[in-house]
Amino acid sequence: MSDKLIDIPSAARLRLDGTALVHNWRTLDAMSGNASAGAAIKANGYGLGAAEVVQQLQSAGCRDFYVANWQEAKEIETYIGTDSSVSVLNGVRAEDMPFAITSSAKPVLNSMEQVQRWRNIGRSCDIMINSGMNRLGINAEDLPAFDWNTLDIDIVMSHLASADQDGPQNIDQLDQFVGALQHVSGKRVSLSNSAGIALGQAYHFDCTRPGLSLYGGKQRPEFSQSIRQVAFPEAQILQVRALRAGDKVGYNAKYVATRDHSIAILALGYADGYLRGFSGKGIFLKDQRALPVLGRVSMDLIAIDISNAPDLLESDWVTAEYDLPTASGQSGLSQYELITGLGNRYTRCWA
Ligand SMILES: *Cc1c(COP(=O)(O)O)cnc(C)c1O
Repeated sequence: MSDKLIDIPSAARLRLDGTALVHNWRTLDAMSGNASAGAAIKANGYGLGAAEVVQQLQSAGCRDFYVANWQEAKEIETYIGTDSSVSVLNGVRAEDMPFAITSSAKPVLNSMEQVQRWRNIGRSCDIMINSGMNRLGINAEDLPAFDWNTLDIDIVMSHLASADQDGPQNIDQLDQFVGALQHVSGKRVSLSNSAGIALGQAYHFDCTRPGLSLYGGKQRPEFSQSIRQVAFPEAQILQVRALRAGDKVGYNAKYVATRDHSIAILALGYADGYLRGFSGKGIFLKDQRALPVLGRVSMDLIAIDISNAPDLLESDWVTAEYDLPTASGQSGLSQYELITGLGNRYTRCWA
């Protein structure tokens, strides 16, 4: 019988820099001007761990948190102080009501059906306005027919579809939103996600809702100097081997050695969110020496060239290059996919 008390250390870990997380929130809060920055912590804090993220940001002064659904609200409720707010972005379905009416989190009402569902509950809510993204939200033309004073509305919000680019859609959405605000009011108004914060004061209103940039995402040049990397995937070397010119590596022999050199096999793969887009493109690092990925990324294993670090041995650790814009360029994945896809086999280590 196995001893359930014996710890089996993981061969992959996610080093998480809490100082950088707090720095990023403070930077986004300052960039938000008179508005206060909240934090989107949906999808388990973009994969890094919602409980840790909430605790660190709340200590830093963040008070408004955004999750996708009620399961996520429930997972963090014990960490939420009485002066903080949690908004459930996906709104409230009939199935959510038994939990929602007992929860200290509030729904973001996205449709008139949801408004009808919540109007007699007598508890706080937020309202999402569709300003042209046509995802979730109440259309501006449906606003005048309802008496919004019958609801206890905290935040009236909308969401920007293209804030990462400078184009006409941002100002269009701002205009639509400002028009809609003539028909519905709450305690606070909010429009901007991370990228929207960089669009300037007209987009700030009372509170902003950054997500990606808290976790190191830099989708606009305004963030390139100020936002810091938070998540550093690290993997242990399972085997070192010497290749001869002509030797093939990995599935379908996508790498063939053109010279004699050493490689290392890492305990990491696409099941850990290090997807196949990094095949032949990703870089690992040891003391700033670059160790390129060779051939295909497998489910649980990756081969890297260790010519630049011949001292590496079995059981040593290396770090993936995971600065989000850089890794996005290498892999063709979005910065969002890169951060939210980091799987459950990592030990998450906050420092
Ligand atoms: C995810 C989300 C955010 C955060 O967006 P980022 O681009 O990650 O900063 C803000 N508001 C809403 C409604 C969202 O769905």
